[in-house]
Amino acid sequence: MTIPHATLPSGDEMPIVGTGTWNLSGETVRESVRTALDAGYTHVDTAEGYGNESEIGDVLSEYKRDGLFLTSKVLAKNLNYESVIEACKNSLENLGTDYLDLYLIHWPNPAISIRETMDAMATLHDQGLVRNIGVSNFSAYQLSCAQHVSELPIAVNQIEFHPWLQRPDIVEYCQETNTIVEAAAPLARTEILSDEIVQELAEEYEKAPAQIVLRWAIENDVVVIPKSSSSEHIKENAELFDWNLKDSDHQRLNEIDRDEPVYDTAAKDWTGETYGIQQ
Ligand code: NAP
Repeated sequence: MTIPHATLPSGDEMPIVGTGTWNLSGETVRESVRTALDAGYTHVDTAEGYGNESEIGDVLSEYKRDGLFLTSKVLAKNLNYESVIEACKNSLENLGTDYLDLYLIHWPNPAISIRETMDAMATLHDQGLVRNIGVSNFSAYQLSCAQHVSELPIAVNQIEFHPWLQRPDIVEYCQETNTIVEAAAPLARTEILSDEIVQELAEEYEKAPAQIVLRWAIENDVVVIPKSSSSEHIKENAELFDWNLKDSDHQRLNEIDRDEPVYDTAAKDWTGETYGIQQ
């Protein structure tokens, strides 16, 4: 299986389907990442906050590093200059690698200057520890602020994105400013799979509902990182390239937006933390 790439502002190539790893640990994450890499994935998404970098590092040591695209993220509580540097070095050590292909700010943190954080990201880049930098869960306004003060292009904004949360304002702004949109929770943590239109299209195209949803995302020039612990799902989630949705069917999915998040939600109970800062 060959997965196409998107070109980042640096010229580096980012596979447009990767494997997500949130909430997977121990042998489950090892098995999930190994299954994905053996099936032809080369792009792995993790974060210091996922607590699984060491397990992923165990698996990556069995593969050639230069064929992989590896992303990690710094927690919002670690966005001051020294903490960004330290967090990145810890992630590299846990992952058993000398560099990350992409390093993301996991969440914005209004209590820490974005200029300070972007300066630390530039230092990591100058030292060769990260090849591309980006953000996650940033609004269009927050991204514009980061772009304004960053020495380096902001290659990616990883945001919740699926047919029930299409966010045209952020997506358009990213695409106009050459920042790739990467869909976190591209399957809406399975909620979207029971949607009536998704089910109908799955039947018509003889595809899994997940494939319909992922194909729709990549047709919108959005990179996807579905997470799965099932080898059958992992394989089908990357079988997206020898077929396409008819324009009218793509349009039907455009029309089911409910502006409904599964994780990036104001309704979340933030009392125990503020953007990753434990209180
Ligand atoms: P997701 O990928 O939208 O959904 C994962 C769920 O879908 C799992 O329960 C999985 O179960 C199921 N699934 C996967 N493939 C399937 C298929 N083909 N058919 C049926 N069910 C399928 O949710 P997510 O893990 O939240 O998001 C994906 C990745 O995005 C994360 O792992 C993480 O790397 C990243 N992410 C980032 C942020 C951020 O703040 N930056 C937030 C959320 C997610 P099975 O194990 O049974 O397949």
